[in-house]
Amino acid sequence: MLKQRLMTPGPTPVPEETLLELAKPVTFHRSGQFRAILAEVLEDLKYVYCTKNLVLPLTCSGTGAMEAAITSTGVPGDKAICLISGRWGERWRNISKAFGLIPIEITVPYGKSVSPAQLEAALKEHPDAKIVCCTLSETATGARNDIKAFGAILKDKPQILIVDAISGLAVMECRTDDWGVDMCVTGSQKALMLPAGLAFVSVSDKAWKLIDANTQQKSFYFDLKKYRDNLKNNDTPFTPANTLIKALKHSLKMLRAEGIENTWARHARMGKACRAGLSAMNLKLLAEDPVDGLTVAWVPEGVDGTEILTRLEKGYGVKVAGGQDTLKGKIIRVAHMGYMDMFDVLTAVSAIEMVLVEMGHKLEPGAGIAAAQKSLTSGIKAKA
Ligand SMILES: *Cc1c(COP(=O)(O)O)cnc(C)c1O
Repeated sequence: MLKQRLMTPGPTPVPEETLLELAKPVTFHRSGQFRAILAEVLEDLKYVYCTKNLVLPLTCSGTGAMEAAITSTGVPGDKAICLISGRWGERWRNISKAFGLIPIEITVPYGKSVSPAQLEAALKEHPDAKIVCCTLSETATGARNDIKAFGAILKDKPQILIVDAISGLAVMECRTDDWGVDMCVTGSQKALMLPAGLAFVSVSDKAWKLIDANTQQKSFYFDLKKYRDNLKNNDTPFTPANTLIKALKHSLKMLRAEGIENTWARHARMGKACRAGLSAMNLKLLAEDPVDGLTVAWVPEGVDGTEILTRLEKGYGVKVAGGQDTLKGKIIRVAHMGYMDMFDVLTAVSAIEMVLVEMGHKLEPGAGIAAAQKSLTSGIKAKA
């Protein structure tokens, strides 16, 4: 028997309390009881987002909320500056294109982050751009982008800042209001510790101005004005995934109890330990400025990355992710986001180490796990 361990960057493990809620009988959503839960969940989400803005609940995966952000603010012919550091940045471009916007692509090689100077240059060249789209945590490469700096650049500019924080929210510092993020998108299956099916987007006053001025709304389901209007009564325009929202209440209470800054610190510690562990196995990390919710490493020369994944899963019960598109077979992506702690990191590092030994990769067995544990212990003070 093997215990199954889900260590992919979405979906992620779900805590017991939340799972138990999901096991309860289905209830009707147009009720005072549900409206109270929705209100409570959205308040707790504001806390996680560090925002006073409305956070709108959508029943869809994260991409749906990305699409909602684009279609509600942009119209065909509008320029959207897309800061692209990987597949998820590319998604902003693809959605923009799909709705007739003109994507201005600012692309960096895989593993790099988009620099604030690149955004400044793009704005200089395209002062008529309407929106700027970027990614907090680029899940394809593990690169982090400096949203705070992007927000500072856009502060007195007409463009709104739209951030895909799907794998970054409740993982790394993300101060929606202080940083000037106009629309911040997330999904339920990453650090919110829930299955897939819900997405959220926060909307600033600056963004609402664009939305209210948009007379060419191209989406019926994702018309954010409808969500805002319904929320006045703590209601949603369409049938919400109310079972998931009830479950989310439990996950959010856990985040509240931990305190968002402690949540960020926990992930930072896990990220550091995982990077130390993989580096000590002679694996090269992909990202120059890494995120804290997952670690992405190149597979060693001459080793088949897909086989590492298969052996991890079949032999050790550990499910991690590989690369997508052109990175397929070349990288492994180990998640440590959401309902995870330092022992999950030690498990992942240990399993990867055992698989690499099995596959004849040159390493000192235990080197990875020792380095990871050393990293974790470095913060511990001896107690009497
Ligand atoms: C997971 C993820 C998405 C969303 O994908 P969905 O499958 O639509 O939920 C988008 N962006 C990033 C950075 C992600 O990690």
